[in-house]
Amino acid sequence: MAPAGRMVAVGVDLGGTTFNAGVVTPDGELIAEQSYDTPRSDDEPLALEAAACAVGGIMEQAAIKPDRLLGVGVGIPGPVDPRAGIVKQAPNLHELDGANAVEIISGQTGAPVHIGNDAFCATLAELRWGAGRDVENLVMFTLGTGVGGGIALDNQVRRGPRQIMGEVGHIIVEPGGRRCGCGNHGCLEAMVGRDGMVDRAVRLMEQGMPSLLEERSGPRHEKLTPRMISEAAHDGDELAIDVMATAGHYLGVALCSCIVLADPDLIVLGGGIAAAGDVLFEPIRRTVRHRSMISGFDVSRIVPAELGNQAGMYGAAALVFDAQGAE
Ligand SMILES: [Zn+2]
Repeated sequence: MAPAGRMVAVGVDLGGTTFNAGVVTPDGELIAEQSYDTPRSDDEPLALEAAACAVGGIMEQAAIKPDRLLGVGVGIPGPVDPRAGIVKQAPNLHELDGANAVEIISGQTGAPVHIGNDAFCATLAELRWGAGRDVENLVMFTLGTGVGGGIALDNQVRRGPRQIMGEVGHIIVEPGGRRCGCGNHGCLEAMVGRDGMVDRAVRLMEQGMPSLLEERSGPRHEKLTPRMISEAAHDGDELAIDVMATAGHYLGVALCSCIVLADPDLIVLGGGIAAAGDVLFEPIRRTVRHRSMISGFDVSRIVPAELGNQAGMYGAAALVFDAQGAE
């Protein structure tokens, strides 16, 4: 339980199927956490109403009086306008497009509300309380179905005037390569996101390279996922190791660009396949060692994220404390 009288924030990390909410102290201590199903609708922003409902419940669960709630932070899976409090576009929660999240949630909870993009929140969480807590400048990559990220300079996560700073998934690493969801070709996300990884593994199997994945992925490889590839690489599977090495190479190339652009103290890799360990980190570090000539970047400063899938929730809570500090 929080020491008597201290203020807390509630962080909410919204997702298309579930969301979680947590009560967090200014030191990053998690007092209570709960996961919920995300209610869906074609045109009503039910997820925002559910998030607002969760705030009261989680405060009660933490046994903290409502007058100690400093504010609510909400991580949104898509681009937002944080000043206006508006969700610009949420591909996995499209009924939120254009919704004023701050108005809806503060209307229901009576608390100040701040919103942020989920990758922004994850970066902020790692900067404040995770792998980056001892540095002021970092670049974060979140590896999943897509590739997100964020850049922190002077202890602040920056987004730029058009909110695109840190969109590392759209750094071009292979001109003319696979088509990306953004319409471009050869973006990092196209090469090392879910589809890029799976496509490469399937192509190698079709070329006759033997693999444990043949049996594990179903007759038409329809069950194949990046996690399965990283597990097979752990088991010593040559094909899976090849796929991870290729992903590591492309990530390394993108990191080299980030190093000269942002001059980070630390590079943090989070999300599903970042848990793969050396099979991914070795090729990344090798690429950076060989290609980041002027920086002399110490490749041991490329590290895994520490907050796992709680990063979004922690980061949402951190939005509240940061806003308080800025006033
Ligand atoms: Zn792209």
